[in-house]
Amino acid sequence: MNYHEYFDVIVVGGGHAGTEAAAAAARMGQNTLLLTHNVDTLGQMSCNPAIGGIGKGHLVKEIDALGGIMAQATDLAGIQFRTLNSSKGPAVRATRAQADRALYKAAVRSKLENQENLKIFQQACDDLIVENDRVVGVVTQMGLKIRAKSVVLTVGTFLNGLIHIGMANHSGGRAGDPPSISLAHRLRELPLRIDRLKTGTPPRIDARTVDFSELQIQAGDNPTPVFSFLGSRTDHPTQIPCFITHTNERTHEVIRNNLDRSPMYAGVIEGIGPRYCPSIEDKVMRFADKASHQIFIEPEGLTTHELYPNGISTSLPFDVQVQIVRSMKGFENAHITRPGYAIEYDYFDPRDLKQTFENKFIQGLFFAGQINGTTGYEEAGAQGLIAGMNAALSAQGKEGWSPERDEAYIGVLIDDLSTLGTKEPYRMFTSRAEYRLLLREDNADIRLTAKGREVGLVDDHRWQAFNEKLELIESERQRLKATWAHMGSPYLDQLNTKLKNPLTREHSLEELLRRPELTYDSLMEIEALGPKLEHVQAAEQVEIQIKYQGYIERQQEEINRQKRNEHTVLPTDFDYTTISGLSNEVKAKLADARPETVGKASRISGITPAAVSILLIHLKKLG
Ligand code: FAD
Repeated sequence: MNYHEYFDVIVVGGGHAGTEAAAAAARMGQNTLLLTHNVDTLGQMSCNPAIGGIGKGHLVKEIDALGGIMAQATDLAGIQFRTLNSSKGPAVRATRAQADRALYKAAVRSKLENQENLKIFQQACDDLIVENDRVVGVVTQMGLKIRAKSVVLTVGTFLNGLIHIGMANHSGGRAGDPPSISLAHRLRELPLRIDRLKTGTPPRIDARTVDFSELQIQAGDNPTPVFSFLGSRTDHPTQIPCFITHTNERTHEVIRNNLDRSPMYAGVIEGIGPRYCPSIEDKVMRFADKASHQIFIEPEGLTTHELYPNGISTSLPFDVQVQIVRSMKGFENAHITRPGYAIEYDYFDPRDLKQTFENKFIQGLFFAGQINGTTGYEEAGAQGLIAGMNAALSAQGKEGWSPERDEAYIGVLIDDLSTLGTKEPYRMFTSRAEYRLLLREDNADIRLTAKGREVGLVDDHRWQAFNEKLELIESERQRLKATWAHMGSPYLDQLNTKLKNPLTREHSLEELLRRPELTYDSLMEIEALGPKLEHVQAAEQVEIQIKYQGYIERQQEEINRQKRNEHTVLPTDFDYTTISGLSNEVKAKLADARPETVGKASRISGITPAAVSILLIHLKKLG
């Protein structure tokens, strides 16, 4: 049976990749269909109810700069906001929000339902229609054939999904959802490299059974950070705190005593799990010398008692989970509302994809999200947006586009995946980017919004707000450059109280702002030097652009120098363990491969340009 409508783009899957993909294609004016198992699970957070964090927050801002959904949905759903690394430089500052799970889903669904050119349809996709190495549509579980120019697959952890709780396992896409078996079989017939990965989630707890007086409280920031460039604090719902507890010797003993009942340690699970989000049994075994691990207790929402204990993801049997939970302070009588579990699923080697996320062997077929070997909502959303945009460009018969490594963290992610591939769930870190000073959260719009406008992702409202901001930044920079503090100025005494060393000659306000002891706000406290920019984002930009100009220029020189280091020799007995700043993953890979030159090191799978930079700095120190 044929469906009555022909689409430009069909997106399969309504998770974080699928919702961004569908919204992006529709924003670009393409007749788009979002086909998903269940309309009620659009935008569902499969694991922890949080968005952002280091590296991930950068991706969210970039999604927003390109007109995406995630940041705005988080502003509407966030119940605790924080800026991580706030005492460090702007390059590594990152926004993180605890979200109300239900509000987040509602915000995503509302965005989609109100998006022009987008239709939503609840059906499982069981098959792809491929003709002459080109995808031309999909077949749903009731045999409906729906045709389109491009198809984006974003089916997450669902392909041949296998859920493990202790030694018992069953098929599932995630707890409470069916797996995707027919589609998985069909994809295994296509010339694609497929493997298995694994991820896990902790048990959830009923807050009414927890003794909060035993827990450490963790409040959000005040004033609360805002995620979207178009957002404001007034978008946020009521703010509530999170809490902290710890595992202890007893917890670890329970785990050690039951390892033979862990599907991972018993060899039942084949897929590799996320290195940076290990299960509690993994942490206890890998860091055997640590007597305790910090566990963040995160509320799942404003209208539920459920809590998410961040840090005790596990696939141990339920009776062991009860013992683990009840061994922690404040949790002695805790009731588990949902058991923790691990899930194994199929993923595709992302080296089979072009930089546009189009498959190299099947034209018009795009892949995004967890099926490309990544982990995390933000990584999925970023890929979804780029895949949806490129599916739309392809449907329009236009050239594809994706950002480069020096333009966006999304560019780093695309380049890492499509050139290096991944053997373990890939997540974003600031350390993966070599141009960190250029790729900041605060300037994501300056880096990307104009490009987004050019391809049709950015609407008039965002475009106008962006241009107004740019004009404010430019005029304020000009004003600070042209305004001078003179030795005879009436406010000189007031200014000198803010300076480490009093002025001995005249200075422009731009020069003064470069001084570490001054901020834009503190300078503008001197009334005569105003008026101060009231636009918070523009004021922040003025300050960062002026203060960090020198560093940014030096980074550019470093990039050029790095390109000249192809033949720099690496001693064969080099001790990589002594290089601080390299991840254990990178150290292990370098020690294993023992590359002869820096050029060869840079081409080892998983050795990022950022790691090469650190290597070069270390070599320079050695002389
Ligand atoms: P998903 O969010 O999985 O969405 C897939 C969508 O596709 C769903 O809407 C589904 O219904 C739909 N679908 C699937 N098959 C079909 C089909 N055949 N037809 C129609 N629709 C279909 N991330 C972390 O960063 N840290 C963690 O610790 C972590 N732990 C996790 C633990 C578990 C148990 C799970 C399940 C996920 C975990 N994640 C974690 C991953 C995070 O949930 C994913 O990275 C993110 O949800 C991926 O987004 P996605 O859009 O690719 O896929």
